[in-house]
Amino acid sequence: MNTRVVKAFGDPSLDKGVMEDAAGIIRAGGLVAIPTETVYGLAGDALNPESARKIYEAKGRPSDNPLIVHIARLNDLEKIARDITDKAYALAEKYWPGPLTMVLNKKDTVPYETTGGLDTVAVRFPVNKIAQEFIFASGGFIAAPSANVSGRPSCTTAEHCIADLDGKIEMIIDGGEVGIGLESTIVDMTGDMPCILRQGYINEAMLRDILGEIETEAPESEHPKAPGMKYRHYAPKGKLAIVRGGDDEVIAKINALTDEQIKRGCRTAVIASHENADKYEADIVRDIGSEDNEDMIAHRLFAILRELDDAGAEYIYSENFDTPRLGGAIMDRLMRAAGYNVIDADVSFKEEDN
Ligand code: AMP
Ligand code: MG
Repeated sequence: MNTRVVKAFGDPSLDKGVMEDAAGIIRAGGLVAIPTETVYGLAGDALNPESARKIYEAKGRPSDNPLIVHIARLNDLEKIARDITDKAYALAEKYWPGPLTMVLNKKDTVPYETTGGLDTVAVRFPVNKIAQEFIFASGGFIAAPSANVSGRPSCTTAEHCIADLDGKIEMIIDGGEVGIGLESTIVDMTGDMPCILRQGYINEAMLRDILGEIETEAPESEHPKAPGMKYRHYAPKGKLAIVRGGDDEVIAKINALTDEQIKRGCRTAVIASHENADKYEADIVRDIGSEDNEDMIAHRLFAILRELDDAGAEYIYSENFDTPRLGGAIMDRLMRAAGYNVIDADVSFKEEDN
């Protein structure tokens, strides 16, 4: 299949032709990769079971891993979800349009192919103008998982989408780099107590503001309520480890580890804060941004993991980025990318003390 790559600008007068073409593809059951404020999405008609099947195939995603349905008007929520509580409406009022997904009981209009066989549906109303134009033009209900091939880091540019999906889908809409760079926060609103299933830009404190008490699902839960959380995610091709501890200890530990691998003839890389980047001796050092600029760290993470793949990094060591506001979401992605492989930089020093 020939994949068309076209630019859009978030201005209806400039994007009209692109949106008409894209909507034609969606109505015919085809697939289009689109920018959103979180990451690029791989879009199909959420109400067409055949489109859902094509999304699973293009991504290589297991079909029990449900898709998020994207809407562009609050009124459309009631057409696909039922038992919508006052708390759910309050969340929608505060954070929609935006990087928040709510899991609700589904109506029959949504096929089980879209929800991976579940009686619930995950719904999001994105704020990105291109995404909104596209959803409107395409009939209002768009299933859009992240546009990466299953298991790879999510796509934050159209180039990432081309790398993963060229030849597999009809169109890629290039809206430039996404803003946030991490997928939406997912909150399950079907139980007595709201539950965070995936961390994101809308953090726990922001949810508590509206919801009061709220639970968080354990990140390594064996039977997660968001089925996607059980699959291997975001992994770079090289072996990634997160090194934790005090700054000096982390720098010393990472330099010792990369030194060892370089001597073995391996290609090494470090993901470092701006403050520390010039202190490493690895083959490749990627400055992810200042510790004080957590938006930048979130924004750069997936792109850096992809860059390190392209650069052939075999052993990758990352600092810990447990920042105050987005640290939960950043570390969730980084830990999954590392397969929870964490090295404690302080430990060897403590052991020597004993
Ligand atoms: P992605 O589309 O790559 O952002 O991943 C979507 C995430 O949402 C996956 O982890 C899914 O398992 C989760 N998800 C989608 N629909 C539901 C649902 N109905 N209930 C729980 N989790 C869901
Ligand atoms: Mg994904």
